[in-house]
Amino acid sequence: MKFDYSDRLSQLPPYVFIEIDRKKKEAVKQGIDIIDFGVGDPDLPTPQHIRDAMKRAIEEPKYHRYPFGPGLLEFRKAIGRWYKVRFGVELDSENEIHALIGSKEGIGHIHLAFVNPGDVVLCPEPAYPVYNIGTIYAGGTSYFMPLLEENDFLPDLDSIPEKIRAKAKMIFINYPNNPTAGCANKDFFRRVVDFGRKHNIIVINDAAYSEIYYDGKKPISFLELPGAKEVGIEFHSLSKTYNMTGWRIGWACGNRDILKGLSMVKENIDSGVFGAIQAASIEALNGPQDCVEEIRSIYQRRRDMLSEGLGKTGWKVKRPEATFYIWARVPEGYSSLQTVEKLLEKAGILSTPGNALGPSGEGYVRFSLTVDENRIKEAVDRLRKIKW
Ligand SMILES: *Cc1c(COP(=O)(O)O)cnc(C)c1O
Repeated sequence: MKFDYSDRLSQLPPYVFIEIDRKKKEAVKQGIDIIDFGVGDPDLPTPQHIRDAMKRAIEEPKYHRYPFGPGLLEFRKAIGRWYKVRFGVELDSENEIHALIGSKEGIGHIHLAFVNPGDVVLCPEPAYPVYNIGTIYAGGTSYFMPLLEENDFLPDLDSIPEKIRAKAKMIFINYPNNPTAGCANKDFFRRVVDFGRKHNIIVINDAAYSEIYYDGKKPISFLELPGAKEVGIEFHSLSKTYNMTGWRIGWACGNRDILKGLSMVKENIDSGVFGAIQAASIEALNGPQDCVEEIRSIYQRRRDMLSEGLGKTGWKVKRPEATFYIWARVPEGYSSLQTVEKLLEKAGILSTPGNALGPSGEGYVRFSLTVDENRIKEAVDRLRKIKW
């Protein structure tokens, strides 16, 4: 039998990692020892006290049934408390917080609540692909906002044409930013709030990396800005903060009417987050936070090691202030893909070509700091031997 896939699947952008995957498999076959800076998935385990909470929760029959709805009230209250302590922002746990099966799930589904065919969604590029994928699934059109180094990796809102603004329903921003490691300040967030209010555009900040910061410089929340809650929401995740990518839990918070739309979409296609995972996440948010401090200091040492190592071998790199990514300019005369290929072939080092995440990523490669110090040391030794 022949199956015709839907048009929306044919609209998915080409998966640029296929070529990299092929090269990686080839290198493995040749017996090359690969150091993988490609994927942004924490290599460290979830902290012990959170795992212990999960063990206890799994014995509770009340969590064995459909969880349904916006999440356990206790979980949402824990998020509310955490938000108040971390950002000084008051959230109504009943109406302004919604649990998600990982923030990717919410980011991919929110479009279904607000985007009709013909509507425009403003998406950054290079970026996490899900903002645009959500647009495709909803039948909308993404308008891409380049994130350029000369603009500190912030989108240039003034350059968005009037016609696009008129059709736009949502704008996605992501600070601290994957892949560029750019950070937003209050001034930028204020401009986005004004932009959203003026043009009636929902503002969505993906704050998955809000807790992965260095040198004590804490990123701010978009919701700290006056008026932000009137125009937008923020996505958060336990994935990066507590090394919980495999658990699938996150949340959206902010404007209640926007969350209501997301909730309506979700309650008709999923049945909530496993209660025991929510219970363990309450422990994560309410429990001791020294594990997060420890996670940050591990990434900070790795960041210093790799950025120094790259710098000494002629690369132009800025130490990121947040996220676990190093966004490095490629050596002169090379494209992103050529650089990634050479790193793999000559040194067994796997990285992500910047253009795989958007055309403005051309000229950069992304190194993910999810590799331990011994392996980073080995990678730096190998980098020294490459002639560009
Ligand atoms: C990792 C990541 C997420 C979080 O994904 P989860 O689904 O919560 O695991 C969201 N946005 C960006 C930009 C990410 O890199």
